[in-house]
Amino acid sequence: MVAGVPEDCVIGVDLGGTKLLAGLVNPELRVLERTYRLAPPSNDPEDLLQLVVDEVRELTHSGIVAPSDVVGVGVGIPSLIDQATGVAVSTVHQPFDGVPVRDELQDRLQLPVALDNDGNCAMLAEWRAGAARGCDDAVLMTVGTGIGSGVVAGGTLIRGSTGAATELGHMVVDFDGPLCPCTNRGCLEALASGTALGREGARLAGQRPGSALARLAGAGEVITGVTVTEQAQLGDRAAREALERVGTLLGVGIANAMNIFNPEVVLIGGGVSAAGEMLLGPARTEARRRARPPSNGVRVEAATFGADAGMVGAAVLALDLLRDGTPAWQG
Ligand SMILES: [Zn+2]
Repeated sequence: MVAGVPEDCVIGVDLGGTKLLAGLVNPELRVLERTYRLAPPSNDPEDLLQLVVDEVRELTHSGIVAPSDVVGVGVGIPSLIDQATGVAVSTVHQPFDGVPVRDELQDRLQLPVALDNDGNCAMLAEWRAGAARGCDDAVLMTVGTGIGSGVVAGGTLIRGSTGAATELGHMVVDFDGPLCPCTNRGCLEALASGTALGREGARLAGQRPGSALARLAGAGEVITGVTVTEQAQLGDRAAREALERVGTLLGVGIANAMNIFNPEVVLIGGGVSAAGEMLLGPARTEARRRARPPSNGVRVEAATFGADAGMVGAAVLALDLLRDGTPAWQG
């Protein structure tokens, strides 16, 4: 092994508001094995920490590589992170406020752990090896339970004065809009996340009695963003209408990001990006309609790593930590 260069594997963990995706990743960022599970709603940080530990151990002992070849862990969570202490701050979807997540995981796993905001992780993956490779200016939004984001401007991952910058999911796009989990009203996340997609699907189920969404709702099924995406892929018009509405609202946020950052590309990742052009098409159209030229000509594309972007980016964090001793953004 070349001194200082990790040849062994790491585990990237993307712990979202409702799911955990973990992957065994080699230094070339190839995902060798993955696990996916729903994260049970919990107000106890202990439950979620244990979930991460269990998944990391499962992958470590999956037989793909020797357990001793797993040399570090990267974790992305939907929270701001104090990088000096590894403590989560201003967390919306998880009970991690004030919890020293990095050190807790490090103690339990007995491995080096790198921790960052999940949107930053996804941006890092795309910037290092995906659709933003070679870009000095790029915006990424991960559309899942909430909306995470990361921004590269002038060749730097933007952090802000206290690490709280580029919370694009909480830009207000509707003064009197629906409540956001952050307690504000009308945030982009409240209007264009997977949660919002489920809500829009449920609303349309009530208005379209012949639709598949209405049949499912009538059978007692809770209409989620995943339900809507699945039914849209099967051709249900109400579900497609819900995606079009949410995509259009996402486009309003993208237009704002285009005007602020004038990026080379805007990338959309996260679970809802599985809907592909049914989401991206309306988002692109609305963004181009609203953004000022020449920013309105910016490409709007699916993230290369799709729903894996946060997990792969977390692995990049771990590899950088092992190689350089610092998270990538500090290097
Ligand atoms: Zn908000």
